Amino acid sequence: MDFLKNEDFEIYNLIKKEEERQNENIELIASENFVSKAVLEAQGSILTNKYAEGYPNKRYYGGCEFIDLIEDLARERLKKLFNVKYVNVQPHSGSQANMAAIRSLINHNDKVLGMALDAGGHLTHGYKLSFSGQDYQSFSYGVNIETGMIDYNDVLRIAKEVKPKLIICGASAYPREIDFKKFKEIADEVGAFLMADIAHIAGLVATNYHNSPIPYCDIVTSTTHKTLRGPRGGIIMTNNEEIAKKVDKTLFPGVQGGPLEHVIAAKAVAFKEDLEPSYKEYIHQVILNAKAMSNEFLKLGYKVISNGTDNHLLLLDVKESKGITGKEVEDLLSKVNITVNKNSIPGDKEKPMLTSGIRLGSPAMTTKGYKEADFVKVADLIDQAISHKDDLNELEKIKKEVKELNDSVKKRNE
Ligand SMILES: *Cc1c(COP(=O)(O)O)cnc(C)c1O
Repeated sequence: MDFLKNEDFEIYNLIKKEEERQNENIELIASENFVSKAVLEAQGSILTNKYAEGYPNKRYYGGCEFIDLIEDLARERLKKLFNVKYVNVQPHSGSQANMAAIRSLINHNDKVLGMALDAGGHLTHGYKLSFSGQDYQSFSYGVNIETGMIDYNDVLRIAKEVKPKLIICGASAYPREIDFKKFKEIADEVGAFLMADIAHIAGLVATNYHNSPIPYCDIVTSTTHKTLRGPRGGIIMTNNEEIAKKVDKTLFPGVQGGPLEHVIAAKAVAFKEDLEPSYKEYIHQVILNAKAMSNEFLKLGYKVISNGTDNHLLLLDVKESKGITGKEVEDLLSKVNITVNKNSIPGDKEKPMLTSGIRLGSPAMTTKGYKEADFVKVADLIDQAISHKDDLNELEKIKKEVKELNDSVKKRNE
């Protein structure tokens, strides 16, 4: 980064500091990951200079002959990855993908039924401060407060009551496998479209560690930067040709302008990586690691929502377990270089800025080479920090142990 260093030292310096933070911290935010150098190079390339409104071979600008080939490669690889007929790789983010997907299926003021935010759903599934809760009449289903799991009979009951035009399934903080076939049966029973947002679990779906929504849904959306380990961005997929045409028009010119072709190239690189056998091994390890961490917390006497996990993340009820809020734990752990996020839990009585829970994910540290035993150690360190939350000496020791763990994994992988 010599050019940047010479031209703008302030920004260069802050990037270096963030790089250091990413290297030193134990990163447990379930929606984050570390991309390969190849993905970084593609995203940092001269492709950012090019305008390419439209789609391959149907552009509004000249000079797109190479851009077209790049976007076609991204599309073909994505189709292969999810075994799907039609894809759009242009959404700038998961939220933009959802906006285009919802607008492709229903009209303003139609009814949409999605998972409640405090049950693990996403803002774009009908939350009142999001376009999805403002442009449509939005309703929500939750999870059973006792089991922490989706109660499909209850979803059906609500769907029959609401009669939505669209049902959205998928979540940001749900630790269990989602039964897409059941959602399809519910959607059919009330005559609704079905959309799945697999932003979090896309990597598990692509490697067959989670059932796929593609056969059951009118549209499937995802991000590319979470378990898929690509650049920040979104994608839209469908097997229905008519819907695919609608999606392309709705995204551009309906929602977005010029696509980010440097990001689309980086998506293509990530999809190539995701098609490799080593990526399937990675996802398997992600799941083993989340289970190891979850089992350790259960052993330590914590309340783990739904008593465990089927995927890459788990939710801890720290309020019930230790009498402190998610916000306090998030702040406390950042002092010992462990990064987590506070998270509402089913039936949470604390405000969203405080919460009773934290969400822990394994994708990022699995990329760094962490195995089950390392995640057991991470759980122990988190427990120690919580148990000694007011003891600065003890916290200083824990911070050292975090560094030792990180260094030992780095050494092992050299
Ligand atoms: C992360 C996420 C998104 C949004 O992605 P952005 O790229 O941040 O807009 C959408 N849906 C779900 C379920 C998510 O977890």
